[in-house]
Amino acid sequence: MNKWEDNVRRVVPYVPGEQPKESGVIKLNTNENPYPPSPMVEAALRDFDTAKLRLYPDTEAKVLVKELSAHYSVPEDQIFVGVGSDDVLSMAFMTFFNSDKPIFFPDITYSFYDVWAELHRIPYETKPLRDDFTIDPKDYMGGNGGIIFPNPNAPTGIEESLEMIEEVLKANPDVVVMIDEAYVDFGCKSCLPLIDKYDNLLVIQTFSKSRSMAGIRIGYAMGSKKLIQYLNDVKFSFNSYTMNWLTQELGAAAVRDDEYFRRTINDIIETREYSKKRLSELGFSFGDSKSNFIFARSDKKSAEYIFTELKKRKIFVRFWNKPRISEYLRITIGTREQMDSLFKALEEILND
Ligand code: PMP
Repeated sequence: MNKWEDNVRRVVPYVPGEQPKESGVIKLNTNENPYPPSPMVEAALRDFDTAKLRLYPDTEAKVLVKELSAHYSVPEDQIFVGVGSDDVLSMAFMTFFNSDKPIFFPDITYSFYDVWAELHRIPYETKPLRDDFTIDPKDYMGGNGGIIFPNPNAPTGIEESLEMIEEVLKANPDVVVMIDEAYVDFGCKSCLPLIDKYDNLLVIQTFSKSRSMAGIRIGYAMGSKKLIQYLNDVKFSFNSYTMNWLTQELGAAAVRDDEYFRRTINDIIETREYSKKRLSELGFSFGDSKSNFIFARSDKKSAEYIFTELKKRKIFVRFWNKPRISEYLRITIGTREQMDSLFKALEEILND
């Protein structure tokens, strides 16, 4: 090894779900939305004034923040936007998790949290989920440098109640508590109303799932004015021009089309409930997902075997060879037709 390598910040990077290059794939592995973005987004793209690209983008992304502010009835100075919620979360880890005490998050959760903790040199401790994959609030009663978990949790899809979140907030007034609501729009109750009551609560959401815009990269955080100010200070010390003009415009257009947003979400929820029924019939067991995926196990064949066989049939789902979850597959909810192709393939695989 070269001497200079002693001074390298070495990290084990996060591994995103596969993005297959071949055609004809049914892609149920990264929780993308099967529907295109709103037609208003397409119109905004057509109308976009490319002459604007000469100028640096608005560092405050006002056009987008304004729409979010109107949509959620949250003042503009309580909203922070970034390049996907991964960008917002990483920035928030850097800004708020600077204690010597470990931050706490569940043992089964979004696998980027420990990567950011390592990257930003944040001590952390994972707390085991109960056997039914719910979070035990007793594990989060102080002694930490901050708390983060998704609601609904990923990859389990399980929703935690606002009462449970409030219990955690009450016990942790001296640290920042982040609730990652990447999948909240699919029927889970948001804890956004609690930001008025707890100035240490940061709620993070994304355009990647419910707004069908994973490819454009928009995430946002909402919280007290103070939290957002601290986030902005760090962002402006890191890279002030994170979000480009086009993204700001297209994001704003997406928020304006509330009707389309609600309709596509409803379709996905309907397909999810139908999929639960079909998966049960096939002998799978799973928790009551409130997200756009189902985390399911079969007693007939191993998850790894099913994953590999599905892949041979060009159907991609997600599988982790990790403790406690190696018998599970995370299946994103696609269109009804995509799900029917999946169930047909599963029938074959389970019965061969
Ligand atoms: N949080 C959770 C729980 C997720 O599953 C994801 C998607 N991988 C994200 C955050 C990040 O999503 P994005 O960066 O696309 O907004």
